[in-house]
Amino acid sequence: MSSICEDILANGVITITGECKGCDACVKQCPTGAITVNGLGTKHAIDPEKCVNCGRCLVACPFGRIQDVSMVEDVKAAIAAGKTVVVQPAPAVRVALAEAFGAEVGTNAEGKMFSALRELGFTVVYDTLFSADLTIMEEGYELLGRIFKSLGLPGYENAGVLPQFTSCCPGWVRYAELFHPEILPNLSTAKSPMMMLGALIKTYGAKNLGVNPADVYSVAIMPCTAKKFEASRPEFISSGYQDVDAVITTRELAEMIAEAGIDFASLPEGEVDKLLGTGSGAGVIFGATGGVMEAALRTAYAVVSGEELAVLEIDAVRGEGALREATITIPLNADLKAATGAESVDVKVAIVSGVENVEPVIEQINAGTCDYHFIEVMNCPGGCINGGGQPIEHSIF
Ligand code: SF4
Ligand code: SF4
Ligand code: SF4
Repeated sequence: MSSICEDILANGVITITGECKGCDACVKQCPTGAITVNGLGTKHAIDPEKCVNCGRCLVACPFGRIQDVSMVEDVKAAIAAGKTVVVQPAPAVRVALAEAFGAEVGTNAEGKMFSALRELGFTVVYDTLFSADLTIMEEGYELLGRIFKSLGLPGYENAGVLPQFTSCCPGWVRYAELFHPEILPNLSTAKSPMMMLGALIKTYGAKNLGVNPADVYSVAIMPCTAKKFEASRPEFISSGYQDVDAVITTRELAEMIAEAGIDFASLPEGEVDKLLGTGSGAGVIFGATGGVMEAALRTAYAVVSGEELAVLEIDAVRGEGALREATITIPLNADLKAATGAESVDVKVAIVSGVENVEPVIEQINAGTCDYHFIEVMNCPGGCINGGGQPIEHSIF
């Protein structure tokens, strides 16, 4: 493990630096009460024992006095050293990057992003959209196992408990570990898309590139500061090497592109590298709250009913409320009808936008009154499109 990762594990990702004005803007955004206030107008500090590394305070600080640990110099050094530097950009990066360089809001700059990454010297360009599909399938099948167990179907005795929470947001996972360890069995056992692709890059990817995994340097571009903590966790060496060596944010990538003198708007539409670069596209909606839930529900629906889920039925999980809920009725296929004696199963889901809004749900679980089957939690209000690693102003260059 690199020394920067050891430092992140010990001290966290986010620090208040310089001359803090004591204005309290960060305090109002912090979902965990991690910011220590010594009085209005005095310098504030962050308690790493309560911080989930989400960067919501960093985005909120009007004076730019909060910063996240940077791995940019490590990435540049790996490129300069001639390592095989493999990069994976997250779904929410491509649109924010376009906006950072002055494009119309909502523009998808995927092709230009791929070109920019190659100009910066990355050797291989993959895409987290590939492993978003894996997460969808893993979480979808895991949910089905837990539901089948609750229905008493044989063969599912070892499945987990209900409700199942999503596990792809490291801010939420850290929140659960720090403040509600009692509900950890409810979290999906699936790794996040970033960590799934990190492990694949150092194993299957290295083999297919004909490179020794020890010579592969794996970089993730994320809208998220908490991903730096996630990548540093000692659990994520399943490939035998650190699965993701460095995480840089959308904001840092935009700065690298500008610093290198690349005219982003004039770049050609580049291509992603095949093998681990292509996805179904379902992962694109991961960037907004409700996206992970919708994608996993579609998988579960198709497996249980043998049919595709209509767009209209899924509308209930879209939207902007802090806590949204819906019930999806899934017709059972012939085998499941025979096994259960039922025609259909009702799956009740909830979407939590802003990690502090999960508290009423956890209260229900602890009281034994929760009837949800599946709950998506995203630490940042609105999801990763509003993550702590995104460009802070609409157009920063
Ligand atoms: S928002 Fe910035 S200036 Fe204001 S208290 Fe927080 S760190 Fe200090
Ligand atoms: S990073 Fe998130 S949890 Fe940590 S102090 Fe900032 S807002 Fe609070
Ligand atoms: S919502 Fe997205 S950006 Fe925010 S902490 Fe979670 S994964 Fe990171």
